[in-house]
Amino acid sequence: MIFGIDLGTTNSLICYLKDGKPEAIPNAMGKVLTPSVVGVDDTGTVFIGAAARERLYKFPNLTAHSFKRLMGTKQSIKLGAREYKPEDLSALVLRALKSDAEAYLGVEVKDVVISVPAYFNDNQRKATKLAGQLAGLNVLRLINEPTAAALFHGIQDYEAAAKFLIFDLGGGTFDVSILEKFDGIMEVRATGGDSFLGGDDFTQVLVSLFAEKASLSYAQKQNPSTLSAIRFVAENAKRSFSEQPQITLDVIIDGVQKSALIHLDEYEAACKGLLDRLRTPIERALRDARLRVSDLDELVMVGGATRMAIIRKLVTQLFGRLPARYIDPDQTIALGAAVCAGLIDRNIVFDEVVLTDVCPHTLGTEVIDYDYQNNPVGLTFLPIIERNIVVPASRVQSVLTAHDGQTQLSIRVFQGESRDCSKNVLLDTIEIDIPSKPKGEISADIRFTYDINGMLEVDVDVEKANIHKSLIISKLGAHVDPEELEERRKVLAALKIHPRDQEENRYLVERAERLYEQSLGERRNTVRLVLTQFISVLEKQDLLEIKKARDAFNMALNSLESEGIW
Ligand code: ADP
Ligand code: MG
Repeated sequence: MIFGIDLGTTNSLICYLKDGKPEAIPNAMGKVLTPSVVGVDDTGTVFIGAAARERLYKFPNLTAHSFKRLMGTKQSIKLGAREYKPEDLSALVLRALKSDAEAYLGVEVKDVVISVPAYFNDNQRKATKLAGQLAGLNVLRLINEPTAAALFHGIQDYEAAAKFLIFDLGGGTFDVSILEKFDGIMEVRATGGDSFLGGDDFTQVLVSLFAEKASLSYAQKQNPSTLSAIRFVAENAKRSFSEQPQITLDVIIDGVQKSALIHLDEYEAACKGLLDRLRTPIERALRDARLRVSDLDELVMVGGATRMAIIRKLVTQLFGRLPARYIDPDQTIALGAAVCAGLIDRNIVFDEVVLTDVCPHTLGTEVIDYDYQNNPVGLTFLPIIERNIVVPASRVQSVLTAHDGQTQLSIRVFQGESRDCSKNVLLDTIEIDIPSKPKGEISADIRFTYDINGMLEVDVDVEKANIHKSLIISKLGAHVDPEELEERRKVLAALKIHPRDQEENRYLVERAERLYEQSLGERRNTVRLVLTQFISVLEKQDLLEIKKARDAFNMALNSLESEGIW
């Protein structure tokens, strides 16, 4: 069986095909979403998911989140005594999904399809594949998130022809895709997005508004644990804006309760910059697909942040209509990844569905730029495969030598949209020795071939010299040295992971610890009493009694939290 995984910035989940229908698999806590959060405690035990998310409040330095934003970079994240690469942390989340799904289904989880933002570049995709390998998974395919969403949406009624736009706003990324469906063929017409724009940014606006209204001192505004406490409260408060026009944020800072009342209008005004940024990728995707808003038949909203009232309002204004159908915005992508898995598996149910995708970024090389008088004026980007071309695609461009007696061609392969190659991502370089001739006498054909898995093959032919050179650039994961992979896998395997079957108990304890810190007076005392009671039951290790106590404890925390903190 092949599984579909949405490895999100905020939440992750795993799905499978049950009797031909994609279905989400609950985690050790019985929840479908596992927060993409990893934490350690002072004994070095590693937590993944909801318990780790609770610890974000109290132990921001021992808890990592939003690391998907760092995928493909060399940055490390320090957690306690250790440094982790973003792929390592993603691998821990994947391992938790894997082991929870295995416990639930009783079968091994090995072959997977993982979704990535359409806007992920080559390095980010490789890092995702590497995370899968580190988690002991076999990543058969990376599917673009909006494509996965479309796939799920499309199979609901694959007879109907339609053009639709997928608007996916998650915690850290924004993706737009335009798809066309006809005769069971689903064609991605264009994709676009912003990999640094998501629901987290809308939380950050609330944090800033609070800091201003509650007149925090400069030192308080700089203090990481204060900021993380505000962010935690703001994150929950942001959700209330979906139901009410004003919210109050309460945070204890340096032992003093600070409050701020914020109106929806004022919040919307403060978010204007972010809302404006959402328009650009939509407009570009429409242009690339050569469509107008009025050509679209449907609008599909994906991602937790599309639940925000101000986002729904913006979308309604932009498109002049409400999103057509309601699909659970949290699960769509993973369900679509499971459908993709079914296609790979040649599952009979999807016999009639054909999926085509597009290349998310322009691929090209660097050449010398000339002005009208044919004087060299510097270097420029030469696009070979342009963004949003249907893949597989193959394109060729010819280049000439630029200097007399030139004996080498250096072909640098870039991904990106900028004329200035230093702003694009350098994928690789091909060096070719050529015979010395006057400039312009040697020409080389550079052919780029891009396949459905995002693998780029570059072939260079120097006809006069009978030279052929070929390079496969992004055969996913091929660049990882097997020894290094084994070494890193061993390090991760040696970590002490908090037992998944105890996850719920630990989550409740961490949640109570957080509530204790957030409260004062009588409420704080109540939290302390229910917490000590639960811990004493845990110590007796009687499973039946623990279960009973857990339910009571959970209810007590729910009611404490719903009444507000004070
Ligand atoms: P990702 O794809 O990054 O994993 P999700 O699709 O799970 O993200 O969305 C997470 C984002 O959705 C977060 O920024 C969170 O604050 C936001 N979110 C989730 N539920 C709501 C809600 N009810 N109202 C407003 N925002 C929400
Ligand atoms: Mg997502």
